[in-house]
Amino acid sequence: NIAVLAAGYLAPVISNAMLYSQIEEAANRDGLTQLYNRGFFDRSLNENFRRAQRYGRPLSLLVADIDHFKQFNDVHGHQAGDAVLRKVAARLTDNMRQGIDIVARYGGEELVLVAPETPDEGIMIVAERIREDVANTVVVYQAEGSDKIELSVTVSIGTATFLPGEESLPNERALIQAADEAMYKAKDTGRNKCMHHGSDAALITSEATETTE
Ligand code: GH3
Ligand code: MG
Ligand code: MG
Repeated sequence: NIAVLAAGYLAPVISNAMLYSQIEEAANRDGLTQLYNRGFFDRSLNENFRRAQRYGRPLSLLVADIDHFKQFNDVHGHQAGDAVLRKVAARLTDNMRQGIDIVARYGGEELVLVAPETPDEGIMIVAERIREDVANTVVVYQAEGSDKIELSVTVSIGTATFLPGEESLPNERALIQAADEAMYKAKDTGRNKCMHHGSDAALITSEATETTE
């Protein structure tokens, strides 16, 4: 029977291919959060930037940094900090467009979201949704031999958008810097805020997003 014979030959080939793609996928991931890692983010942003330029499409970037993250480590220990980081990472992946957006750990407690085909208004809405979702999240943590504790966490978010024909953000490095600057502006104006590059105030509030319907 030829089919059986072929299956016998092909099985190891297929399982090798599956194993390879699993290894490749794992190599692109951050061990703690399971988000994409920095290397994958860099490649992906570069690719998306070139595509946005070539096809004249908008591309947005979101940078989220956990507020006073050092406190979680200092007060409750590094493992509590890790638990907070994992929980915030999950809030980002839950709010992304599956199969379109890329969520990655940029470094430390700084997470990024790449949003292809997304203009200013779009990324500002996503940012506010994430900010609100994180602020409403309670991280339940239990250290070995201790009582359960509940931790509240907030993030400061900066966003920036590449628009075709716009010269102020000519490459992906400029886009990262713009989103990062906006994030620091959100920190400076009180944290638990979203700021968009080029805007002067944290304009987007929950009330504002409700009236855009
Ligand atoms: P700010 O609101 O200004 O962002 O304050 P912050 O405390 O979040 O910022 P800072 O940069 O002072 O501290 C970041 C801390 O994040 C310091 C570092 O030890 C901690 N950190 C980085 N990566 C990890 C990690 O993987 N796990 C844990 N538990 N802590 C981490
Ligand atoms: Mg921080
Ligand atoms: Mg930081």
